[in-house]
Amino acid sequence: MKDTERIEMALPLIIEWYAASRRVLPWRESPTPYHVWISEIMLQQTRIEAVIPYYRRFLAELPDLPSLAAVEEDRLLKLWEGLGYYSRARNLKKAAQLVMERCGGELPSRAEELKKLPGIGDYTAGAIASIAYGEPVPAVDGNVLRVLSRLLACGDDIMAPATRKTMTRLLQAYYPSGDAAGLLTEGIMELGETVCVPNGEARCELCPVRRLCRAFREGTVDRFPVKAPPKARKIQQRTILLLRCGGKVAIRQREKKGLLAGLWEFPGLDDAQDEASLRNLFPDALSIQPCGEARHIFTHVEWHMTGFAIELPRELPEYLWETPQTIGERYSLPTALRFYQSQL
Ligand code: SF4
Repeated sequence: MKDTERIEMALPLIIEWYAASRRVLPWRESPTPYHVWISEIMLQQTRIEAVIPYYRRFLAELPDLPSLAAVEEDRLLKLWEGLGYYSRARNLKKAAQLVMERCGGELPSRAEELKKLPGIGDYTAGAIASIAYGEPVPAVDGNVLRVLSRLLACGDDIMAPATRKTMTRLLQAYYPSGDAAGLLTEGIMELGETVCVPNGEARCELCPVRRLCRAFREGTVDRFPVKAPPKARKIQQRTILLLRCGGKVAIRQREKKGLLAGLWEFPGLDDAQDEASLRNLFPDALSIQPCGEARHIFTHVEWHMTGFAIELPRELPEYLWETPQTIGERYSLPTALRFYQSQL
C-alpha cells in the first residue's frame, strides 16, 4: 500500500476514535480562537497536567484579547512564572496588541495570516486555524511526527525540517474542513499523547489505525521515529549570590534580550567562585556562607550553580533591595533560581 493510501484511510479512523474517546480538557470546553491560541502556546514544551492550572489562572485574569493586549508586562510574567520560556508570554502580548491595532481585535482565521504574528509558527497557526476556524490545515508537532513515522514505517529523521515538510504535505492532501479539521488536529495529537507514546510503551492494542500501521505489522514499532541525536548542551558554571542586608535581599533585572530576558534574578557571576574569592569581592561582608548547589537545564545550555548567602553592612546601589515576601509576590524569578529563592 502506498503512503498516500495509508494516510487517506487512517485519517477518518482517527477522527472517529477521537470524537468517541477524547479527554476533557479546559481549553476544549469552548475552543474559541483565543482559548486555542493561549493553550497551544502554553503547551509548547510543557506537559498538559502542568499547563491546566496556569491556563485557568491566566484566563481568569486575562479572559480575552483586549485584556491581554493591555496587561502590564510584570503582571504577565508573574502569571507565566514557572512555565518557563518567557518569550512565549511576551510574544502573546505583542501579538494581541497587533491584532487590536490591525485586525479589529479578531485573531485572523487563516493559517497564513496567523503566521505573521509574533510567536505563531506553522504548528500553532495550523492548530488555531483548524481547531477554531475549521480550515483544512494540519498542525505537525512531535506527537504527530511519531504517529506518522510509525504508521508509514518512515525512517527519515523527524528532527529534520525536510521530514516535517513531507509529513505536512502528506497530511495536507487529505485534510478535511469544518469541524472534522479540528477533530483531526486534536485527534492525531491525542493519539500521540495517549496511545502511540514514545519510549517503547506504545499501546497498539488500543490504536484505531493498528490495521493500517506498517510498523505494527512489521513488528518494528520501537525503531520509529528515527531521531538524530541532539547536540550536547553547553555547561555553564555560575555562582549565585544571595546578598542580604537588614532583612532585604538584592535582585536585578536581566537584559531585555537573550536567555531569560527581562526576568528578575539574584546577582550572579558567570564562573565558579569559592568563599575566599568572594571575600576579595566583598571585603566588608559580615558573613559568607555556602547555600547549596543546583542545576538547571535549558534547551541549549545547562547551568551548574553554586550559591552563597552574603550578609552585607549596607545596600549596594546597583541592585534593587526587597524583602523575600515582596520578591515572591511581585517579581518573576526564573524556575532555574527556585532552589535559591527557597533558601531566603
Ligand atoms: Fe502507533 Fe501502534 Fe498505532 Fe502504529 S499501531 S500508530 S505504532 S500505536
